Amino acid sequence: MQEEKAVSEQKKSCVNCGAELKYKPGTTTITCEYCNHQETIVQDQNGFKELALKPYLTEMGSQSHSEEIMMLHCKNCGANQHIEENYKSLHCVYCTMPLIIEDAYKEDWILPGAILPFQFDQKKSHQIFSKWVKGLWFAPNNLKKAALDPQNTKGLYLPYWTFDAQLYADYTGKRGDYYYVNVPYKATVNGKTVTRTRQERRTRWTSTRGNISGFVDDTLIKASHQRKNHIPTKISNWNLKALQPFNSSFLAGFVTEKYTIPLKDGHLSSTKEAEHIAKLWAKRDIGGDTQRINSIQMRLTDETFKHILLPVYISAYQYSGKKYNFFINGQTGAISGKRPYSFWKIFFFILLILIVVALLFWLSEKK
Ligand SMILES: [Zn+2]
Ligand SMILES: [Zn+2]
Repeated sequence: MQEEKAVSEQKKSCVNCGAELKYKPGTTTITCEYCNHQETIVQDQNGFKELALKPYLTEMGSQSHSEEIMMLHCKNCGANQHIEENYKSLHCVYCTMPLIIEDAYKEDWILPGAILPFQFDQKKSHQIFSKWVKGLWFAPNNLKKAALDPQNTKGLYLPYWTFDAQLYADYTGKRGDYYYVNVPYKATVNGKTVTRTRQERRTRWTSTRGNISGFVDDTLIKASHQRKNHIPTKISNWNLKALQPFNSSFLAGFVTEKYTIPLKDGHLSSTKEAEHIAKLWAKRDIGGDTQRINSIQMRLTDETFKHILLPVYISAYQYSGKKYNFFINGQTGAISGKRPYSFWKIFFFILLILIVVALLFWLSEKK
């Protein structure tokens, strides 16, 4: 317990100048921005903390891997965020609403078991944003100005649950094998009625039962509601093979969101995923050309879970009263976002097309 607390509360300062050391993306070091002093992040030799699920589901809070974290709640959009760095001005990473440091409160959380550290820095993310925004068709000019303010781009660690389990299932069902029959039919050729045959597909069904088993690895379930702050699926593909054992040094200089979907609900979603997987496995086991499952009884044993953190860069800004977000995957650089259109740019573009069409028409009429 003591050891766990020490991990997340230690904030490292530079031995030369006393400034706060921040995680340098793409490396395993924390660095001083002012004098370039570097320290290697000492990795946990025990590797990932896969935790047994049962004790957590029955009794949260008294576990040795839970601890307290300082949180700031955004009154505007509801996001819960932990800000490791002393920003001059604190703003919600999603909606840019100012946050007040005096409003910070302590909350229990399950310590992350693994983290996917950022692979490139804020400057690079800003270059990706700039390139993308400049390439947008019909975007208002003010949008380009607003979106390109580097102040609006922040690195955020998103919370996810992953679940592992041994899956067993007994099933009953039907196996369908295709066969073909020749079916006669009447046709009219040159005014005469003739009999022809065509092939039709039929299915022979045989009843079957059996059981399947296997290991379900790393079922990924999002742990934050994101009702308003939806992370696009286009950027939600992380390579989980690059996960590192958790160390709070990776958070230095970034914002971390606390899970708002409790472990219990995350587990329900992962059980649904497992049921889906069990059906796929049962169908594969049945074989044939097509399958029906009449009943399936699934059980999961040796269930473990991890709380993990995954990196995204978010650019948030207000544009004529509406809120917009752009997202970049902090590992792969994939980008996506909602964007406004300029009415006038589209209006004049359509006008231009109409003029060109009219001109062409007039030229062809003149001949
Ligand atoms: Zn320094
Ligand atoms: Zn907010």
